[in-house]
Amino acid sequence: MSKTLKSIRGMHDVLPDKTPAWQHLETALQETASAFGYEEIRMPIVEQTRLFARSIGEVTDIVEKEMYTFDDRNGESLTLRPEGTAGCVRACLQHGLIHNQQRRLWYVGPMFRHERPQKGRYRQFHQFGVETFGVAGPELDVELIQMARSLWSRLGIEDVRLEINTLGEPDARARHRAVLVEYLEAHADALDEEARRRLHDNPLRVLDSKNPAIQEILEAAPRLADYLDEESAADFARSCELLDALGIPYRVNPRLVRGLDYYNKMVFEWVTDSLGAQGTICAGGRYDGLVEQLGGRSTPAAGFAMGLERLLELVGEPADAARADVYVIVPEADRQAAALALAERLRGTLAGRRVQCNLDGGSLKAQFKRADRSGAETAVIVEDATGEQVSIKPLRGEGEQRTVTSPQLDDLLAKVPADAL
Ligand code: ATP
Ligand code: MG
Repeated sequence: MSKTLKSIRGMHDVLPDKTPAWQHLETALQETASAFGYEEIRMPIVEQTRLFARSIGEVTDIVEKEMYTFDDRNGESLTLRPEGTAGCVRACLQHGLIHNQQRRLWYVGPMFRHERPQKGRYRQFHQFGVETFGVAGPELDVELIQMARSLWSRLGIEDVRLEINTLGEPDARARHRAVLVEYLEAHADALDEEARRRLHDNPLRVLDSKNPAIQEILEAAPRLADYLDEESAADFARSCELLDALGIPYRVNPRLVRGLDYYNKMVFEWVTDSLGAQGTICAGGRYDGLVEQLGGRSTPAAGFAMGLERLLELVGEPADAARADVYVIVPEADRQAAALALAERLRGTLAGRRVQCNLDGGSLKAQFKRADRSGAETAVIVEDATGEQVSIKPLRGEGEQRTVTSPQLDDLLAKVPADAL
């Protein structure tokens, strides 16, 4: 077969026809985060492996089987980040960002998980995440949900619903764990291999199982809600009250446990039915124990992460695929310098408009064809080597070609769309 090199399975190029949609989405994410008072943080893509083992949890899909882990040349075990929270907390501790103060942070970037690639599930994918430190109450959990909702409305995403649950504090989970294990052991025959393994390592994660047979058994399993600590129960009730007051519909899903170990109290997911099996576009919750677990002082914290590829599937493409607004045509080679100078001047005077200059000759016909393909609304033709005489020709609509002096051009171009000429 051919020797052409290919990208790694599950890791995709974003080609120029798709980058406008990415930019549009990224702008919406940044502006929304900043409207809620969040600041951007950028972390390295590679971290020490033990950071993830200690934060995400040893008995999770991610740490057990999804991480890209390798020894570097010094023999140190490193991992391509599978998510952003661990690195964000690490950075905050390292630089004293959350010492005695609240912090609201956001980030966006590639994450890596060795999963079976399919629609909506990739090995390199992108997350937008926000993390808030030093705010304890359920009000924050609700504000995070509110932030996601304001993003959906800005992006025109309608088919999305909110599921929430509370995981309680570790001691409540321990009490529930004991009865849950007992119940599941009584049904051990019906469990699959993964569930049986998890039964003792991390029984709550059995609730996360996607196997329908197991889901059926879980219907009658002891519910964490019946073992909750008082504070978690009260906080959850308060969250529900606030969501009601804000008119944000939700469904309490007692089986929502999240795939990472560090969550406590409120967890939530935004789910859509429009994307098939990979329907979760945003997931998050509270993780009050993580900062301390990673060596810091006990600090309340909550956040969420969104999958950009899934969001893009929902949002679609922005209408304007043009690469230029004005295209400069150069009929003779001796007019190239004048054309380059003219294009440069126009980029200055027509702030924000894209000006593309023809560079490698070609017949007039060929140049007009390129102009058309660029998506430009207007062509400017350089009529002499000094660049003093120019013609302006609308490429869309009805307007006529006119020859003018170069200084008159700016006013005319300011009037584009071209049929206004
Ligand atoms: P899932 O149950 O779909 O595997 P998860 O619980 O592993 O999701 P999180 O770790 O919470 O997902 O990540 C937050 C979001 O990132 C997900 O809701 C999803 O939108 C996105 N995401 C996670 N894994 C992938 C992936 N492999 N490819 C594309 N997007 C992903
Ligand atoms: Mg996963």
